[in-house]
Amino acid sequence: MNNPRHDIVVIGGGVIGMNIAYKLAKSGRDVALIEPDELGMGASYGNAGTIADYATIPLGTPNVLRDLPRLMFDRESPLSIHYSVVPRLLPWLIQFAFQSLPGPSRANAKALGQLLNNANALWRTTAEELGASHLLHQRGCLYLYDSENAFIAAKADEKMRRDNGVALEVISASEVLQLEPGLSTFQGGAHYFPDATSIDDPGALMKTFASRLNDLGMSVIKARANNIVEHGQYSDIHCDDNLIVSARKVVIAAGAHSRALARSVGENVTLDTERGYHLEFDMPKSPVSRPVCSARRGFYASPMNGRLRIAGTVEFGGVDLPASPQRLAMLERGARELLPQLGEVSRAWLGFRPSVPNSVPIIRRSKRSKHIILAFGHGHIGVTLAPVTATMVQALI
Ligand SMILES: Cc1cc2nc3c(=O)[nH]c(=O)nc-3n(C[C@H](O)[C@H](O)[C@H](O)COP(=O)(O)OP(=O)(O)OC[C@H]3O[C@@H](n4cnc5c(N)ncnc54)[C@H](O)[C@@H]3O)c2cc1C
Repeated sequence: MNNPRHDIVVIGGGVIGMNIAYKLAKSGRDVALIEPDELGMGASYGNAGTIADYATIPLGTPNVLRDLPRLMFDRESPLSIHYSVVPRLLPWLIQFAFQSLPGPSRANAKALGQLLNNANALWRTTAEELGASHLLHQRGCLYLYDSENAFIAAKADEKMRRDNGVALEVISASEVLQLEPGLSTFQGGAHYFPDATSIDDPGALMKTFASRLNDLGMSVIKARANNIVEHGQYSDIHCDDNLIVSARKVVIAAGAHSRALARSVGENVTLDTERGYHLEFDMPKSPVSRPVCSARRGFYASPMNGRLRIAGTVEFGGVDLPASPQRLAMLERGARELLPQLGEVSRAWLGFRPSVPNSVPIIRRSKRSKHIILAFGHGHIGVTLAPVTATMVQALI
């Protein structure tokens, strides 16, 4: 039997891989997508749904570095670590500490600001083409700082965002409660991003994407890619069950699972995962009318179609360990503090952000081969940056 052979193969059918495949197929290229599971059902399904073009602050900043010991050891902290993974994670953590210093962190914020500049407009165009504009809402977004001290400390974040051209309003706690009367009363205030857009239902958007790719006649190869071997004009992608798929150009976009594939083409990338959770509460009307992020608790409360999704927190623990009941319980406690009227939890989820130490995604040609493109490491803003990434990859190809 002949191996399937294509002009371009994209490995990974998350929001990044699908956007890339869509953009290339639309321009008339012969593209196939390799994905072992249902398209778009990894991290791209369970996120908070914000098109966060205001998210110009990298995870690593001097403030975070200073707070790291407290964040790691406080049981109610939004950040936790499984100590069994520390030896493997050490290179990532060392680079993260370096990237959190004032100089690198400012440079990373600037790089993020440039990437995010056009993110909202590109999503609008993409959603329109997909017939999914009804899933995008320009309803603003709130970042709560729930103590006077935290609100004052957030001045540094405000400056970093404004330096990168983000439109934001600084508002008091009472102004927040006028906008969102369902929230518990709190001290402090908020940053309000009045123009922010969010997705009503990331899962529905992913399904729309998948069906559009189907309409375009794209081959979706249901397989797991294990390694890539380049020879001559083509690269062979070795998959499970002895399947080999050949392509002139290969795009690695397997999210948090991209490291081994990159290594097979000689790229030693520092990629790991920040595990994140969500809880959903089914209800006809959400208690908040726009995504509200609790900065201290590290999660968003996002209104979604027929439900409220509480999504966020960071856990270092790799992709193999099961979900932690303690982390889910902590997320639920935080959600009930923020929104006391919540009923029973309807469902829970764990997902894997593809994370690099400087928070700036890897979108470039492989240093070893101009036929291999890397497109992963989008961390907390992969949904936001998916159409931007697709445009960049198209230009590289
Ligand atoms: C709790 C939480 C909240 C978030 N909130 C937001 C938000 O509000 N806004 C935002 O912009 N971002 C958010 N994010 C981040 C965002 O979800 C991710 O950055 C984004 O989904 C990454 O997309 P991806 O396509 O790279 O990865 P994924 O969606 O994980 O897709 C990768 C795909 O590759 C496939 N794959 C894996 N291994 C292989 C292989 N060997 N061969 C072939 N295919 C393979 C997987 O099955 C998967 O389908 C959030 C993340 C989490 C966890």
